[in-house]
Order: sequence, then structure tokens, then C-alpha cells
Amino acid sequence: HINEMGWNFDKSYTRLPEAFYEKAEPATVHSPELVIFNKSLAETLGLNSDLLQTKEGVEVFAGNQVPENAAPIAQAYAGHQFGHFTMLGDGRAVLFGEQITPSGERFDIQLKGSGRTPFSRRGDGRATLGPMLREYIISEAMHALGIPTNRSLAVVTTGETVIRETPLPGAVLTRVAASHLRVGTFEYALRLNDVEKLQALADYAIERHFPEMEQNGKRYLTLFEEVVKRQAELIANWQLVGFIHGVMNTDNMTISGETIDYGPCAFMDEYNPATVFSSIDVQGRYAYQNQPAIGQWNLARFAESLVPLLHEKPDQAVELAQDILGTYEKWYHHHWLTGMRKKLGIQNEEERDEKLVEDLLGIMKEHRADYTNTFRALTLDKPEDTAMAGTAEFKQWYAQWQKRLERQEILKTSAYQLMKEVNPSIIPRNHRVEEALEAAVDKGDYSVMEKLLDVLSDPYAYSSDQEEFTKLPEPSTFPYRTYC
Ligand code: AMP
Ligand code: MG
Ligand code: MG
Repeated sequence: HINEMGWNFDKSYTRLPEAFYEKAEPATVHSPELVIFNKSLAETLGLNSDLLQTKEGVEVFAGNQVPENAAPIAQAYAGHQFGHFTMLGDGRAVLFGEQITPSGERFDIQLKGSGRTPFSRRGDGRATLGPMLREYIISEAMHALGIPTNRSLAVVTTGETVIRETPLPGAVLTRVAASHLRVGTFEYALRLNDVEKLQALADYAIERHFPEMEQNGKRYLTLFEEVVKRQAELIANWQLVGFIHGVMNTDNMTISGETIDYGPCAFMDEYNPATVFSSIDVQGRYAYQNQPAIGQWNLARFAESLVPLLHEKPDQAVELAQDILGTYEKWYHHHWLTGMRKKLGIQNEEERDEKLVEDLLGIMKEHRADYTNTFRALTLDKPEDTAMAGTAEFKQWYAQWQKRLERQEILKTSAYQLMKEVNPSIIPRNHRVEEALEAAVDKGDYSVMEKLLDVLSDPYAYSSDQEEFTKLPEPSTFPYRTYC
């Protein structure tokens, strides 16, 4: 029945020069079981969701069966990890190919945790259940928030044990992405010291993600410019919802502008720009407040990789790239301020809006106000529900904000209505995610996760069944920590 499942792979990546990938069969696993499945995503991909949930379908998600028209590969890439250059590649993932959907869209279908590949180095190529479920929850939540991201189609347990600090249940996640082209793929291409190969990769990226782009001598510069714009917007979106990626290495930054690599990421609870969750980020390189600047740093690595294509004279190429890199801050600031205005129900522009936003953030920081719930309370016109309620500075700010809402054409009631479209009522709160994972991993109870996924699928609903999920955890003596 494998053909009836709807797998419809093209393999355009394998038409790139061979240096960009290695053939890699997924490992066979002992006794796969489907534990979570994304029916609606399957259907938009043109897949038969009933067949996929049968024993045969699950064999595909486990890597035990490769669909006939797939050609599994591991992609080669490099990257700057915490600032240091390294050669990498898919060490625990294989790409089946690109699913062509009924509407003609193209999506990478990748198994993560599917065993060793030529790029595994010392790793076992495996993934454990908790982190794969975590990626599923957060990536789907990001999608529902309207933020570009790869998505999650299924998680299977393998029936095998993976050795970490303790033995843990093994799992494989099926990921769906616009592509897995990364800044790190270009860093790798540069180091092949072969301009033709670099150019082949750049042409491929343009064809796949910017097909409208004009065929002219400036197209590689335009590629850079378009990626700068997409990343500036993406990172502004992260800041606006309080998302901390946690491991913004250049190999985890896409050319498509989608969020990828949900390892140690988490949403900020109380507003503090210095927030870091990842246990390995000891210097706070990827703290909330550093994300915009790291985005630009990563894009500088992208620009360096493109230099041989930008101009025959390297110094001229660098100058051209610098000019475009310089526009990143403008784009970022534009998206951030536009987003912040919307979060405050402001539809026209005034010079002092940024000050109004900064003042609010300052008061939130001082009173350790919850980021999401503060905007939620403002949206519901319940300022008394915020952690700043009753303080002189907040009263003053609130009065200013109210006056500001009166200085625009739309009615206040419409402003509040529009705020609901941009301020999520719920986010995947750390304690809720942990609770769902604990029930699933320790007890095999997926109902907690299913319920969480259900409310996260409509974060702007402001429905009564979400109420419960807006509550903060009991205060803890320890800061929340995430692990890769
Ligand atoms: P990440 O931190 O997820 O971005 O991964 C960085 C690199 O380490 C990538 O090349 C991964 O494929 C590789 N890697 C991570 N975990 C494993 C593993 N268990 N086995 C082999 N390679 C791995
Ligand atoms: Mg990665
Ligand atoms: Mg990872």
C-alpha cells in the first residue's frame, strides 16, 4: 500500500553536485509505534492519513520502509557553533525527498533520529522521545502563532533504548520544511573552493525560495538581500512573542526564513531581556536580547560565503554585501515596532510610540511581569490583572496609552479587537510542556499532550477552555533549564 499512502517525492537536492549530500539509509528499528500524528498536516501534504496510521504507514515514519520513490540522503553542511566554525552535516537525520503536494508546493520530508550517517562523527544518530515530542509541540505552536517554521508530521517510538546519561526511550520525528538549506550549507559550499558548486547551490536556493527573482547579474546580491529581510522579520516575530531559540548557530538558520532546530528553545515567562534557558549557553550568547544582533552576525557569515558570486573583485563584493547587511537593523526595527504598535492596538504612527513601548517594557521588567499575560491583560482591558497594577509608574503609563488610543481614527473597541489578533492568549508554557512530556514519556499517557496541542492550535482564540492554560506555574527557586 506504500504507493497509496500518497508519497510523491521529487529529489531535486540530489541533482546538486554530489559534494552536497551523502546517500544514507535510515536504520531499522525494533518495534515502532506511532504516538502522535498530525492528521491535518498529512492531508495538506496530499497524504492518506488513514493508511499512514496503519502498521505499514508507521514503518515509513520509523525508517523501516523507504517509499519507493524516495531517495534518502544526509545533507552536508558546516556552521558556526557558539561562534566557532565546524564541519557538520545531518548526523542523525535523513531526507526522503521533497513531497510535492496536490497544490504543487514542495516540502522536505525528513526523519530525525533515524540512525547514523556519514556525518554522525561520534554520535549514535538517535533521538530520544522527550525532545522529539517537545519539538513537535513547540513547532506546531509556532505555526499556529503564524510564525514561519518547519512542522511536525509524526513521532514514533522505536521500542529501543538510547543511552544518554541514563537509558531513555528512542524515537523518530518526521519533520516537514520548506527546505533545510541553511546559512551553514553556504559556509560548507564556500569551503569546497569551487565557485561552480557554490553557484549551483545559490541558483538552487533562488529557484526554490525566490523563484520570482529576476535573472540578472545582481541576483546573488538579491538573494542575500531577500534572506536578510526574511530573517529580520522572523527574528522580530520571535521577539514579539517572547520566543528564545536557544541555539542560533549558523547551521540552525534557514535560507527560507523558517524557524528550525527546536532543541533548547523556550518561551520567556517573566519579562527579562537577559533570559537564557539553554543549559549549555553559559555565556548567554543566545539570550533573548541578543537574538536580533546574532541574526545579523549569522547573516554576515552568509554574506562571506556568497562573496565569490557577488563581484569579481573581492573587496567590491564585500562592500556590496556590507551595504545590504547594514539594512538588516532597519528591517528588524521596522517589523519589531510595527508589531509592538499592533500589540498595543495602535494603527497609525506617532514619533513617540517607541518610547511608549520601551516604557512599558521597562515597567514590566522592574515588576517581573509575565510577558504574554501582560499583553493578554491589556488586550482584555484588565490592567488590574498585571503584575504592575497599582504602581504609580504603571498608572501613568496606562493613562498615556489610553490617550494614545484616542489619537487614532478607529474606535477603542476596535483597537482592543485587533489586539486579540496579535497577542496570543496562550503560548506553550514551560511547565505545561513539561507536564505533557512527563505524562507521555513516563506513563505513556498522551492525553495531556493532545489537549495541550489542541489549545495551542488556536492561540488567538481567547476561548474559555484556554483560561486554565494561561495560569503561571508555582514560583520556583530554580530557573527553568533546557537541554539539547
Ligand atoms: P544541533 O545541535 O541539533 O543543531 O546539531 C548539531 C550537529 O550535531 C548536527 O550536525 C547534528 O546532526 C549532530 N548531532 C546531534 N545529535 C546527534 C546524534 N545523536 N548523533 C549524531 N549526530 C548528532
Ligand atoms: Mg541543527
Ligand atoms: Mg538539535
